[in-house]
Amino acid sequence: QAKYHGRNVYRFYTPDMNREVEQRLRLERELRLALQNHEFELYYQTQLDMQTGRVVGIEALLRWNHPERGLVPPNEFIPAAEDSGLIVPIGQWVLRAACQQAKNLYKAQFKHVKVSINVSARQLSDRDFVSDFKAVVRDTGVEPEQLVLEVTESTLMADTQVALAHLHALRTLGVGLAIDDFGTGYSSLSYLKRLPVTCLKVDRSFVQHLPADDEDRAITTLIVAMANSLNYRVVVEGVETEPQWAFLRECGCHFGQGYYFSYPVPVEQLMVGLLEAQKRH
Ligand code: C2E
Ligand code: MG
Ligand code: MG
Ligand code: MG
Repeated sequence: QAKYHGRNVYRFYTPDMNREVEQRLRLERELRLALQNHEFELYYQTQLDMQTGRVVGIEALLRWNHPERGLVPPNEFIPAAEDSGLIVPIGQWVLRAACQQAKNLYKAQFKHVKVSINVSARQLSDRDFVSDFKAVVRDTGVEPEQLVLEVTESTLMADTQVALAHLHALRTLGVGLAIDDFGTGYSSLSYLKRLPVTCLKVDRSFVQHLPADDEDRAITTLIVAMANSLNYRVVVEGVETEPQWAFLRECGCHFGQGYYFSYPVPVEQLMVGLLEAQKRH
């Protein structure tokens, strides 16, 4: 009930909040059904060697084919999936589907194409993460070296010893580890020493205003130089224009991902694109 609360006094309850809670609960119910009804789908976006134009990897990006709302992007449901813990079974589905796809690429003579998979903090600290992972590798027959896990800096900040141990265990199997959205978290660089990192993904926010913006030019150049001297792979996210591409190539960045090269696409379209690119080389 709206009473007078005075200045600077927090209102504890509003009808709006009630609606938000209801919406959230409905979303969680729908997500549970979505798993049962096979409404999830992986789209794939290519990662290119910016010098040669060759495809070196693909990133699996989750989509939800909602019966009424159509294709729902991950930012609209991953947070609810994380809060409710549903990200664990959803993430298992993602892992299995992406590993199956990696195996298909392997069989189609694209074994050099790595498959990147996004992983949330909640999944990573799940007790069974490593054993589930091994089971998927066994069932699909995928080579762990063909896989890369993408985790964000904020995921690593929430790090528990469990998550760290899991990342080391997977690295031992041969799985690559990429830091996603690099440069946007509040964490210190010290985690680079504690983690078996193989790749940094420079966040799109540093690329957007290239090549015009002085600060962004300095920041990307610095991240690329640091990554190169640490022997990490660098993938720049969100390359949308030719001038961005030209600048990044010149500053020593080898790999890029973005709408300029290709949008995320369903798997059939990915395969068509890969075969066409192969013919060109
Ligand atoms: P991310 O891992 O940083 O993925 C890159 C996002 O940037 C994707 O958005 C991609 O479509 C978009 N993108 C790629 N190139 C460009 C470009 O040139 N310009 C612009 N403006 N955007 C570009 P998407 O697919 O909507 O995914 C958003 C985020 O959702 C991902 O960010 C990732 O954090 C999360 N996510 C996606 N799939 C999964 C999943 O299977 N599991 C988990 N836990 N998270 C996922
Ligand atoms: Mg990612
Ligand atoms: Mg990213
Ligand atoms: Mg992101």
